[in-house]
Amino acid sequence: MNKQLEINEKGHLTVGGVDTTYLADKYSTPLFVYDVTKIRENARAFVETFASLGVKAQVAYASKAFSSIAMLQVAKQENLSLDVVSQGELYTALQAEFPVEKIHLHGNNKNREELEMAIQHNIGCIVIDNFHEIDLLTDILANYEKEVDVLLRVTPGIEAHTHDYILTGNEDSKFGFDIANGQAEKAFRLLNQKDRIHLKGLHCHIGSQIFETDGFIMAIRRLFDTLADWKRKYQFEANVLNLGGGFGIRYTNEDDPLPLNEYVRALVTEIKKQVTIHQMDVPEIWIEPGRAIVGNTAVTLYSVGSKKEIPEVRNYIAVDGGMTDNIRPALYQAKYDAILANKADQPNTYTTSVAGKCCESGDMLMWDLLLPSVESGDILAVFSTGAYGYSMSSHYNRFPKAAVVFIENDKDTLVIRRETYQDLVRNDLSYE
Ligand SMILES: *Cc1c(COP(=O)(O)O)cnc(C)c1O
Repeated sequence: MNKQLEINEKGHLTVGGVDTTYLADKYSTPLFVYDVTKIRENARAFVETFASLGVKAQVAYASKAFSSIAMLQVAKQENLSLDVVSQGELYTALQAEFPVEKIHLHGNNKNREELEMAIQHNIGCIVIDNFHEIDLLTDILANYEKEVDVLLRVTPGIEAHTHDYILTGNEDSKFGFDIANGQAEKAFRLLNQKDRIHLKGLHCHIGSQIFETDGFIMAIRRLFDTLADWKRKYQFEANVLNLGGGFGIRYTNEDDPLPLNEYVRALVTEIKKQVTIHQMDVPEIWIEPGRAIVGNTAVTLYSVGSKKEIPEVRNYIAVDGGMTDNIRPALYQAKYDAILANKADQPNTYTTSVAGKCCESGDMLMWDLLLPSVESGDILAVFSTGAYGYSMSSHYNRFPKAAVVFIENDKDTLVIRRETYQDLVRNDLSYE
């Protein structure tokens, strides 16, 4: 965690200059609080590094990490492109008036409606994932008498997880076309016969929360081996190389990610090396960071409720949210760090685990966290909850979804309202 905390004279945690206890009071809890200045810093670290290295690039924010109209407006202001993976994400992008030519559609099971919506709105690129999709798209383009730019999603046989990467000949993945078994080439040849589909290049995404550059470099080498082969056989030259997302962030002190500009430098260096070896032009480089744009920019504020001390075993405190607003600990054993926002200047003397309020033993946010002495009513601030928190939230136990506040220039702005109980039963129909 970033323990260079901002603490005010009252000993309270602040975000972008605003007292978090004030925010908890004003908007209630659980509450996601985003520091918009940090979102912009992350976006610029990517965009400006590409610019400084003189390569054409698109930095596409993977909106599944956190999609809302306000968020996509910030992405638009920062000249990002946008990845969407569903009609709902595309609809949100259109509502945010995101430039359609910079929207890319992903998904391993895009259906006719999704593809039609993308074609109707003339979005910039579709990332082709499978043969079924090629058939659907061919049909739709004929019906609408339109054309579209696409990338081919390939699985280069490299899977990266934080520090490790796994090399496999044939990849066992639900996404994309395998290079090693010839499916990628088969798809390539098929796409080349389609008049209305323009293949711009290749896409790969090797994993998430990656701390090293080795996996990306190996993926680049595999992609260039493929491109060299296709240049030789088919005179194909890629205009675009999309290396996906997955750039890691710091959740706890155990995490040691690279600065964002170093990932970019490593990618660009290797690509320049490969184009020299293979005598090609430098393609436009696209990346798709989600977590690295928003992950470290938000804290979640909770109110502490009950407390349970089991002598010789463990202490528990429970908060007014949990797996409904942050499923990652339950789903991935993800680790987080937290402090008491209203006691941010007090020494840590009490070890406790933090439970959510769902009727599930697995609904635990953190184990054996060190805090100041905790009382009911304290505000717990969990760090780095900006990615895959709100976007993965659910209505389990019929908890309304939390509210989201943006902070910028010392000002707080509500950007997603807290759901009401009426919202919860909005689609329920009577049966009497
Ligand atoms: C999830 C995903 C991303 C974003 O991943 P992060 O780890 O959030 O950067 C990018 N591209 C694709 C294809 C994805 O599935």
